[in-house]
Amino acid sequence: MKDISCKLLVIGAGPGGYVCAIRAGQLGIDTVIVEAKKAGGTCLNVGCIPSKALIHAAEEYDRIAHLASGRNALGIRTTKPEIDLSRTVAWKDTIVGRLNNGVVGLLKRAKVKMVQGQARFRDGKTVEVETETGRQVIRAETVVIATGSAPVELPGLPFGGAVISSTEALSLTEVPERLAVIGGGYIGLELGTALAKLGAKVTVVEAQERILPQYDVELTRPVSKKLQALGIDVMTGAKAKGLARAGGTLLVETESGSEVSIAADRILVTVGRRPVTQGWGMEELVLDMDGPFIRIDETCRTSMRGIYAIGDVTGEPMLAHRAMSQGEMVAEIVAGHRRVWDKQAIPAVCFTDPEIVSVGMSPDEAQKTVDTRVGHFPFSANGRAMTMLNEDGFVRVVARADNHLVLGIQAVGQGVAELSAAFSLAIEMGARLEDVAGTVHAHPTRSEAFQEAALKALGLALHS
Ligand code: FAD
Repeated sequence: MKDISCKLLVIGAGPGGYVCAIRAGQLGIDTVIVEAKKAGGTCLNVGCIPSKALIHAAEEYDRIAHLASGRNALGIRTTKPEIDLSRTVAWKDTIVGRLNNGVVGLLKRAKVKMVQGQARFRDGKTVEVETETGRQVIRAETVVIATGSAPVELPGLPFGGAVISSTEALSLTEVPERLAVIGGGYIGLELGTALAKLGAKVTVVEAQERILPQYDVELTRPVSKKLQALGIDVMTGAKAKGLARAGGTLLVETESGSEVSIAADRILVTVGRRPVTQGWGMEELVLDMDGPFIRIDETCRTSMRGIYAIGDVTGEPMLAHRAMSQGEMVAEIVAGHRRVWDKQAIPAVCFTDPEIVSVGMSPDEAQKTVDTRVGHFPFSANGRAMTMLNEDGFVRVVARADNHLVLGIQAVGQGVAELSAAFSLAIEMGARLEDVAGTVHAHPTRSEAFQEAALKALGLALHS
């Protein structure tokens, strides 16, 4: 097979890699992208998109089940729903397929050459790819590592059989009767909640003292309340030890040191993700590392000239939009533009029930560096939330006390994921409380709670 020479080689076609390659192609850079599995990476194939499809299906089912229970205030009568999970999964696969083809089409349109297969470094400028038709050697002036991350396995609970990762959980064709979720982070809770809504008896086992430890208690309280309402048992300070010999039982060491058994047909392990830095020749390049991640500077350069790294392989926050933004920046740098990572904040959204959004600093984080004002507006005082029969949650705005610069915005509540754009924009544009308070917000919308929280921080609340 004839060797390929190019200006830019991107390894991995997840959100980081494919965005980098598309922008590079648009800028006229001769670009090749290598992908071992499917274009779109974790996010599109086994992450963000399929999980949100499953969550949506579960929400619809739960909503109809609630209406059918006769306990609803809306006066709607309907019959109990049924779910055929294999059809739900087939629907989810069609969405993944559409987006998959979309990414391939966009790469083609940007004149990016895609090579299918596992890349392996020969040296810092050369990789070889085992393709279906033989070994392909690719030489490049610049290489971008965008190999992403993979689920972490627990030593006593290797994946296989009843023990599954998020990938298998997204393709179950039947709702497990009893599901144990190990790890109360966002992935475990999103999937655990969806499967509980579809009828599984779910137990969450979390080693730390509380679920979603990266968010403060005020933000996670409504989520804990809903988990309880759904009948999900949450064990905190508890460590999964392994399976009982008889099978179908998970052994857990509780906070007090005693051992309990949890009957489970499936055990979903969501204890984190590890960067894909091993097994494909990268370790031989001896790049500087930052713990398990590749160390990068503010332009995503690694310690080796001509090699950049983006996305999950470079550390937290392991989120698709961070990977995409880094990918776009690196493509522009390779094209000769002056760019550096100067983002004020990266939004984090947790698609639990209710959803959580956090952008910038929490009140505690901000208070460590500067005097603050915090405004808090509950959805129980928001007309739109009342009409949607879901008043749980609030919007919170954190600002500097002296000049009112907004430092952080958080929300928990139904549908607040969609407020993340307004929150991020406010922080990126350097908004002050007066800017948010002085912006006319459409009525009746949940977004009014953002304006009201800013008014409250200014001591000018109107509706609370
Ligand atoms: P990846 O998407 O992991 O892509 C890396 C690609 O590189 C893969 O396709 C892989 O096959 C390929 N590759 C690896 N090694 C090689 C090699 N040697 N040769 C060729 N190809 C290689 N993030 C959000 O922002 N929002 C969400 O709602 C969200 N939900 C998630 C839900 C789940 C269940 C999971 C698992 C993740 C979720 N994430 C979410 C995280 C998100 O998926 C990742 O942050 C994102 O995919 C990272 O993008 P990436 O480009 O760095 O890597």
